[in-house]
Amino acid sequence: MPTRPLVLCLSGLDPSGGAGLQADIETVAALGGHVLGLVTALTVQDTRNVAEVAATDPELLRRQLDLLLRDCRPQAVKLGLLGSAGQFGVILDLLQTCGVPVVCDPVLRAGGGARLLDPTAGAALRRTLFPAVTLLTPNAAEARLLCPGAADLDACGRELLEAGCANVLITGGDEPADDVVNSWYAAGRAPQRYRWPRLPETFHGAGCTLAAALAALLAQGLDTAAALQRAQEWTLQALRRAQTVGRGRRIPGRAA
Ligand code: PLP
Repeated sequence: MPTRPLVLCLSGLDPSGGAGLQADIETVAALGGHVLGLVTALTVQDTRNVAEVAATDPELLRRQLDLLLRDCRPQAVKLGLLGSAGQFGVILDLLQTCGVPVVCDPVLRAGGGARLLDPTAGAALRRTLFPAVTLLTPNAAEARLLCPGAADLDACGRELLEAGCANVLITGGDEPADDVVNSWYAAGRAPQRYRWPRLPETFHGAGCTLAAALAALLAQGLDTAAALQRAQEWTLQALRRAQTVGRGRRIPGRAA
């Protein structure tokens, strides 16, 4: 048996190293796990914004997964940027065979403003994959894009539960409030609010870092409530240690 919990991550590759698979690898390693990593898309981007997304061929992803999963048994799956709707079928097959917690960061729009998945793909993501998701982690803008008819963020949370996610954490880092308020939704209970100090800088890859930390902690066997508390604390710490690597937003300091 591997000594470190294995987290299977399907994410985009960000050459600036702030977001995507590099965020996953650094976060999971710092929390004691090991990443099995698949690249869903190559991106053209810097610390300011994303210029291009080149999706991986779904059949290549399928062959990578088929071979890898005959050898390794992940304890959690983390989905980040998915390159195209054509990948969803392959990923659904994966989630149905794995039977482990699934954290999905529905990456629809970059902090710099670029659309990373077109609206029809966003609707297909919701319809196809959300029923297999243990914990969905949209930021407020993504929650509104996923639920265009919802009156407010709480209505988005309820709608995303109805779409099949077992838990939803809507993060408020991209909202104008003084503090960052994140809200956890689960069936049959009132939303739980987490309030964190807003740091003065802006960050690139904060959402990926939080989702990867959640996956790492669920892979260790923490329950959802404990993983949510610890992953948010850990991410805030990484943001406090953020580093400047370019002229845009700072990237979380995740190194162990
Ligand atoms: N690039 C990749 C590969 C990502 O996964 C993400 C977000 O998840 C981004 C870019 C955008 O990150 P941010 O919104 O922090 O700039």
